[in-house]
Order: sequence, then C-alpha cells, then structure tokens
Amino acid sequence: MTVQSSGAPDGADTRVDFYSLTRGELEEWLQRECGEPPFRARQLFQWVYWRRVTDVLQMSDLSRGLREQLAARLYFPQAGIDSRQISTDGTRKYLLRVEKDDRIECVFIKQPKRNTLCVSSQVGCAMGCRFCRTATMGLRRHLSPSEIVRQVLLAIDDAKEFGDAFENLVFMGMGEPLHNVENVIKALEIIRDASGLNISGRRITVSTSGLVPAIERFGAANLDVNLAVSLNATDDETREQVMPVNKRWNIAALLQALREFPMKPRRCITIEYVMLGGVNDRREDLVRLPKLLHGLRAKVNLIPYNMNAGLGFTTPSKERILEWQHALLSHGLSTTIRWSKGPDIDAACGQLATATSKVTKIRAERAYEAPSESTL
Ligand code: SF4
Repeated sequence: MTVQSSGAPDGADTRVDFYSLTRGELEEWLQRECGEPPFRARQLFQWVYWRRVTDVLQMSDLSRGLREQLAARLYFPQAGIDSRQISTDGTRKYLLRVEKDDRIECVFIKQPKRNTLCVSSQVGCAMGCRFCRTATMGLRRHLSPSEIVRQVLLAIDDAKEFGDAFENLVFMGMGEPLHNVENVIKALEIIRDASGLNISGRRITVSTSGLVPAIERFGAANLDVNLAVSLNATDDETREQVMPVNKRWNIAALLQALREFPMKPRRCITIEYVMLGGVNDRREDLVRLPKLLHGLRAKVNLIPYNMNAGLGFTTPSKERILEWQHALLSHGLSTTIRWSKGPDIDAACGQLATATSKVTKIRAERAYEAPSESTL
C-alpha cells in the first residue's frame, strides 16, 4: 500500500493518498485501521469517483466519528492544469502539473463518432523511438497510480465543461505504459472498478513498443483491456534503427508474445504502424507485413508520421498510405488509418513532450535503458 506524504514541511505527514488505493486495498486499510466492514470502501469510492466529493466530512452516509477519523488520515492530492491548447480540429492538449513539480501532457481527441482521451504513463520515456518527440526528453520517472488516475479524472471533468464525453481511453501519451507496468495495472483496476471510474475494459487500450516480459505480465493481470503494439517495421534491421527496443526483443519474440497474449473471443490486437517515408513503406514491407501477421488475431492501424522538426523523417504521400490500406485489406487484414489530429498544437501521435527545466533533455541513445527482465 502506498503512503505518500502530503508535502507537510516537517515531513511527518503519513496520511494515505486516496487515489493510490484500489478498492480492495482500501477495504483492507479500513478494516485494519478503523475496524470498518468492506462495504465502506465502496461507499468512499462512490463519493469520490462518482460524485467527486473529496471532503470526507460531507460524506453523509458515514458516521460523524468515522468521517473525522478519515479526514485526518486520508488526503486527496489534485492534479492541476497548467495550460490547455485547442487545435483548429477541436483536439485539446493539456499540460498537467503532477507530483515533484513535473509536467505531463494528455490529449482529448475530437472525432465525429468516438472521442478519445489519450493519457501519459511516465514523465518522458526511456525507449528512444527515433520518430518520437517524447523520446528526446529521456525518462524522468514513472507516474504513480494516483497520478495516472487523477490525470484521467481531470481530463474527464474538463471535457464535461466543453459538453464532451469520450468513448475510448488510450495509454498512448508520454511514456511506455508497460515500462511502468505495475503502476499502470493498479491505475487500471481503479479506472475499471464499477464503483470507481467505471470505464469498461473494452473501451481502454494500452499501447506498447514491445517489452516482451511486460506484455506477459500485463496479460497475466487479466484486466480485459485492449492491447496495441507499435510494430513500425517488417524486418529487424529497420526496426532496430527506428525502435532500439528491438535489439532486446526482436520481431519474432514480439510476435510470439502476441500470439500467447490472452484475449476474449472477438477481441484482437492492434498493430500500429507509423509510416515513415522511404524507411518502412517500401514494396517489400507491404509484402512482408501480411505474412508476419498471418494467424494473429490482429488489425492494423496505419499512422502517417507526424512531422517533428529535427528528427529526420518524412511522411509518405497520401496515395502511398491509401495504397497500403487497400493492399492490406485485400489480404483480409482489417486496416484503418489514423489521420493526424491536433498537429497545429503538437498534439498528434508522437509529438508530445514537455520542456520544463525539471526534465533533463538528453539524447535518446543515452536515455535508452531497457528495463531488465527482473524488474518487469
Ligand atoms: S513512441 Fe512511445 S515508447 Fe516510443 S519513445 Fe515515444 S512515448 Fe516512448
């Protein structure tokens, strides 16, 4: 159980960060510390996550004595919005203030049929993908479960101000979610909990660059959420050039892990393919991709590269992208294209990065430290 200081100057504050607890952990804590039955945890969850009440003294179905006890022992840290940018296409990008005065970004993507909330899992990222702006930050740290949950809460509540609901929640913002797999799993338990944020696993997608042991760990957690994988190349040589993670776990190892990933019937893995002009959009790539995916329950999402100045890649022509979609469909592969959203505010896929003085800007080659298997 995580006990976080509320920042009291004397450092003696041991109140528990409410957002760091799953409902099961809260049940245990309430029983151990206050002698309360398990259903109290459900009551507290519903006050906080359903009604957004964080003043325990207002929780009218708890006894006065318990309210006073909890008010002294729980705390509710808040994430803050530093800025909100709105794209001409309606996409909103948030710069959020989290613990330790760090900054992260999350994006509310406006789409005609299904709005999507894209959240971060780390401050920066260690994976060093060459086409990604977040990679240029290096990794500062993992987000805690509490920070992930509060990020989602804040974005949902702000969306309501715009009259927006969202259909999909995706972990595709800053960071590699499965490098932070334990915290992401815990946050997802709270996000999915029927008395918590109550977001169905069917509407949640977690994306990975291909950390094979963490994919296995994530599958074993049995969260029933969707998995997306950034493949981005059809041969190891090219993939190593654009995604250093491939040096540790190559395409064959990754595809094997995907074949073994537990999925309910009618679910499939999304294979993301950032199209980099002249790098991975060659004829031979188009021939190899369907062969690689043969027998895998997968759909393909083609992502035209979103320009990041200085990273040295180009976006293929629209004709080339449509040609790929057509060819993959003709192989029986369900294939969509993720056209750019919010590029005018650098909110599109691969463009997120914060540049606070707290973030050490180091080159991606130096930042990359593949997590050791023992830590996953
Ligand atoms: S694409 Fe994802 S995993 Fe790769 S560097 Fe960017 S944030 Fe990290």
